[in-house]
Amino acid sequence: MNKITANKKLGQHFLTNQHVAQLMTKNFASDAEGIIEIGPGKGVLTKYLATWQIPFHVIEKDDRMLEPLSEFLNDNQITCADILKVDLTELINTLGWTGKKIWVISNLPYNISVLILLQLVKSDSIKYMTLMFQKEVAEKIFNFTNLKNPMSSLMCICLNYFDLKLLCKVHPGSFSPPPKVESAVISFKRFDHPEVALNEFDSLEQFLRRLFQFKRKQMGGILKKYYPLDVLVDTFKMINKEMTDRAESLVFKELICLYKNLKKIC
Ligand code: SAM
Repeated sequence: MNKITANKKLGQHFLTNQHVAQLMTKNFASDAEGIIEIGPGKGVLTKYLATWQIPFHVIEKDDRMLEPLSEFLNDNQITCADILKVDLTELINTLGWTGKKIWVISNLPYNISVLILLQLVKSDSIKYMTLMFQKEVAEKIFNFTNLKNPMSSLMCICLNYFDLKLLCKVHPGSFSPPPKVESAVISFKRFDHPEVALNEFDSLEQFLRRLFQFKRKQMGGILKKYYPLDVLVDTFKMINKEMTDRAESLVFKELICLYKNLKKIC
């Protein structure tokens, strides 16, 4: 099992710190009705998760991991596939987990962590997530350090759909091989009633993408391509902001208010 060497292309940094593994795997153990682990690797989290009396399934791209995982799981608990190609709704239905509160846990492959996160946000049955990111990405998701990180499209999306908490920071020495960066684990609990509903995800994401694509530009300059000027003037007045302000200076509530008002009028 330990002969498996890390494949850099798959973002393989195996967690060796058992304290972090225990903390992560307890996070939503008393709330979840089904657990999906993404990228279990050799099974450092899997071995703890398999002991909870909760239906459990894993998705791992690297078929070399099937052997070590078989120590903790049956074959029918493993999907050997690229998570980005898995239809999560279909998988959840096939597992017979429709309507269950699902918890996704992962020490994410950092090269595709944001893509995976967005895929998970869009899946309504996923109520809880415990996800490890590289620290720079975690700081784009929410402000857990004293640094006042500027608002980003990703932060606004995550704050809209989830109650977020920092579970722990993780030092490179907690992995083998150690990554070059610090890591952080974020705990996500989905809101029952987000400010913007999930069926508007695409519309919200498009609005934020436009706004943050040129984040050094003034918002009025960006938005006038899409909305009439008089509507923009009224809307900015309503949220007490200037059209010359930049998107990253807005707080979450102001961005959502801007989105909702422009959507209502146009
Ligand atoms: N969970 C293990 C741990 O904590 O030691 C491994 C974590 S390692 C950072 C990331 C894992 O994700 C690896 O096992 C890797 O093979 C897997 N992985 C990478 N890309 C993947 C993808 N597209 N779909 C599914 N799994 C993937």
